[in-house]
Amino acid sequence: MVIPSKSHVALLASPGFGHLIPVIELAKRLVTVHSFSATVFVVTTNPSPAESQLLQSAASANLFDIAVLPHVNLTFPPETDIVTRMAVMMREALPSLHSSIAGMTHRPTALIVDLFGTEAIKIADEFDMLKYVFIASNALFLAFTVYFPFMGKIEKDEPLILPGCNPVPFENLNEIAFHPEAQGYQEYIRIGLEIPTANGVIVNTWEDLEGKTLCSFKSNEIMKAVIKIPVHAIGPLVRRAPSADSKSAVIEWLDMQPNESVVYVSFGSGGTLTTQQTIEMAWGLELSQQRFIWVVRPPIDYDASASLYFESKDDKSDGGGISRYLPDGFLARTSDLGRVVPMWAPQEEILAHPATGGCISHCGWNSTLECLVHGIPIIGWPLYAEQNMNATMLTRDIGVAIRPTGQPSKVTVGREEIEKMVRKIMVDKEGATIRLKAKELQKSGEKVSSKGGSSYDALSEIVKECEMNTLS
Ligand code: UDP
Repeated sequence: MVIPSKSHVALLASPGFGHLIPVIELAKRLVTVHSFSATVFVVTTNPSPAESQLLQSAASANLFDIAVLPHVNLTFPPETDIVTRMAVMMREALPSLHSSIAGMTHRPTALIVDLFGTEAIKIADEFDMLKYVFIASNALFLAFTVYFPFMGKIEKDEPLILPGCNPVPFENLNEIAFHPEAQGYQEYIRIGLEIPTANGVIVNTWEDLEGKTLCSFKSNEIMKAVIKIPVHAIGPLVRRAPSADSKSAVIEWLDMQPNESVVYVSFGSGGTLTTQQTIEMAWGLELSQQRFIWVVRPPIDYDASASLYFESKDDKSDGGGISRYLPDGFLARTSDLGRVVPMWAPQEEILAHPATGGCISHCGWNSTLECLVHGIPIIGWPLYAEQNMNATMLTRDIGVAIRPTGQPSKVTVGREEIEKMVRKIMVDKEGATIRLKAKELQKSGEKVSSKGGSSYDALSEIVKECEMNTLS
């Protein structure tokens, strides 16, 4: 019998905490479950403390190599859209990725790139490597992305029909669709066309979550013609809380709370609220009389989107000054009810804690999956990018979330509505179905990820392809 030599894969992560996490998790899974060796190439501009810490802890675990590609100094005009920023940063990193791969003695058998790394597929071709695109998001997002080049003009107020998928209401489309004049729009078309040039797509979802959309890739004639390559649903792939040597104050506080009694409020690695919304959120939480942990950032009135990615790099920068933005006396009145954490919280530890029972989330895909794997129902609070599409899916199609009537990126959601929503997902009778759905998805996520489950098998198929390529 021929014993295959250990397969070596290279993974390429684009900048930003939310992009880095899933790539690192995928590398971990390939190494620990499938005995691969891996090199993770990282493109960063000016890593935030959270990113640096993530890289450090991944490096010290010694499971795989981490190669930070040489920093490219880029300045963008402030109005540059986020897709363009990401695309240009990744493009600039290609020459160093090329020379790094060329110089490797144990040449990887496959290159796995994320959404913004698809231009690197041609490097994999040059070195006869297999190539995969890892969509660290959901199947609906993948369907939208590959169909985007063929969509033509989107009719205002008409829902978007992605072949074989549930319609997406116009106002909930991925933000990029509304800006045909932006460079990012053209970059997105390019990405949509490059994905099908890979050997396969890996997507962080699973059958019970998105059965219909996943089925469209196999059985809808138009979608099949667009995507062209196999889609491997390997989710839920999430970071698990590391066992910390010492507990943070917020976890010590959680330890003292009853099971499923705390709502966690967070808007991802970059989301921010306006001044008025911050005040309404505070009142809403207080009025609900539910325990809470709230990651509070200084409000920004002109931009809810990832400004923290690219501007403020000091996660602890406002540690002492948060109370300035909160209603008078809020911290004192809620000192028994909740905890305010400035800037950044140990989210995965909080969501994994038995005392956490609900989450107000911007519906970034990592945060969404982190909620689902712990059976936590969601109040969807989408702010930018594809978060509105995610929120639509979670509320309308999956039934694990509720959301405010108005779009939080466009209107201020009032305190009474927040109070009502928090009570609904945490304690009220009408929230029971949503809480139950969250528990069901938790179980199904565990099942598909264990040996013999659909997600385990989907990753095993890629593993097999890589092993075959290593032998040939
Ligand atoms: N996160 C965290 N602490 C925070 C805010 C975010 O650990 O205070 C982590 C969160 O657990 C998730 C990631 O940052 O893994 C955010 O990724 P997501 O895809 O949800 O949103 P993005 O930040 O990319 O919009």
